[in-house]
Amino acid sequence: MSKLVRGYEVVIGFETHTQLSTQSKIFSRAATAFGAEPNTQACALDLALPGTLPVMNQGAVQRAIEFGLAVGATIAELSVFARKNYFYPDLPKGYQISQYEIPVVQGGTVEFLLGDEKKTVRLVRAHLEEDAGKSLHEEFAGQTGIDLNRAGTPLLEIVTEPDMRSSDEAVAYAKELHKLVTWMGICDGNMQEGSFRCDANVSVRKPGAPLGTRREIKNLNSFKFMQQAIDYEVRWQIEQIEDGRTIEQATVLFDPDSGETRAMRTKEDAADYRYFPDPDLPPLVIDRIWVERVRAEMTELPRVMAQRFVSVYGLPEYDAATLTHNKETAAYFEQAAKLCGQPKLASNWVMGELSRRLNAGELGIAQAPVSAEQLAQLLSRIADGSISNSAGRQVFETLWTGQATDPDAIIEAQGLRQMNDGAELEKLVVQALAANPKSVQEFLAGKEKALNALVGQVMKTSKGTANPDQVQLLLKAKLQKF
Ligand code: ADP
Ligand code: MG
Repeated sequence: MSKLVRGYEVVIGFETHTQLSTQSKIFSRAATAFGAEPNTQACALDLALPGTLPVMNQGAVQRAIEFGLAVGATIAELSVFARKNYFYPDLPKGYQISQYEIPVVQGGTVEFLLGDEKKTVRLVRAHLEEDAGKSLHEEFAGQTGIDLNRAGTPLLEIVTEPDMRSSDEAVAYAKELHKLVTWMGICDGNMQEGSFRCDANVSVRKPGAPLGTRREIKNLNSFKFMQQAIDYEVRWQIEQIEDGRTIEQATVLFDPDSGETRAMRTKEDAADYRYFPDPDLPPLVIDRIWVERVRAEMTELPRVMAQRFVSVYGLPEYDAATLTHNKETAAYFEQAAKLCGQPKLASNWVMGELSRRLNAGELGIAQAPVSAEQLAQLLSRIADGSISNSAGRQVFETLWTGQATDPDAIIEAQGLRQMNDGAELEKLVVQALAANPKSVQEFLAGKEKALNALVGQVMKTSKGTANPDQVQLLLKAKLQKF
């Protein structure tokens, strides 16, 4: 059951603008790269000069198809571009080309884990559209400039049903969607640059009541702000209702400085936009053969890969889910696991030592100074008993700091080879028993823990190279004869 906030149920639906990773714009040849000098990437079409005509970018359509297939949606055989009419300085045509009545992607679901609970959010649609330009207020004292570099950048707007019931669930959905589109490479996912922008529609109601009136929080570009904005908005709406006021449908902005949402404008209805099919663009017709070709060439999706890690490598679900958090980590794990033939050991080290070091250095896995091959070689030595787990960490450390590159050479140079020789170990065990009569007495008096102290002694005199399991067995055997 969804948890209530002061007796109210929270209802959230998302509209997410994902910028598609094409080189050129959705209807022109101008580049989409971020950060260029204002208006250097705006061609005649982006400037809305008379006589220009839009031409569909096939790469944008292909990415929309990939997304649709990934979420199990229907890819429309025929969809229609429409003009959404409104006036704004960063929209020189006076309308945005979007899709309205017939979008390219219809239905589908996004599945994810919220804690241990499996959640499914239904998608209404995903449609192709062009981005608008940008107003630059800060550049000139008291003036505003218009930068049309972003005008015509391809967007896929992904719309959910109002299926989410808490800010936690909404953020988990957004993270899953972000993971999916970046994994597939159809969007670079850079939230600071605006490549992945979420609008959260939020309402509250008493359980069982019809849907309440929603307010739409625009342009949330970080997961942290998303959570804060929704939590604030929910508290605010409940207060209004408790104070006897009604919620008016509105578009609001979140101000990270005050932590509050503020009304920007009362919400327009679709009728205000006077949508109509764009006469400059024919309907978008997608051949089934194309869809099947895209399906065949699509990258393995994170959920499918996680299932494979469980069935092929026998990993626990938790490991599989963690390792498939991003594609590079999954590939790194799989390479190491294959090379050393020890998937669970490889999983432990990738999720443990490796991620610990990456996090500490704020590095991505691509920047890891230890390669999957090196890790695999090191793990093989642990698996065959040549070195202990803790000696393994020492080898890893040496690899990480770049002092040496070959795990076997490090093991020899640092004298880390595990002592497995029975006769040699026995000598050390006899020594330890003779030197620690107090621990021996305690053990014989029934204090099991005294054994650990004796094992510790042997490990110390062997400089950590003794095989601790063997030491323990030998000690027990000797002590039985006391
Ligand atoms: P519009 O196109 O005018 O923004 P839609 O009906 O397409 O309106 O809905 C936009 C988003 O708002 C969808 O994600 C939908 O799930 C969500 N939504 C609709 N009604 C509610 C509601 N009462 N509470 C929360 N979210 C809602
Ligand atoms: Mg909307």
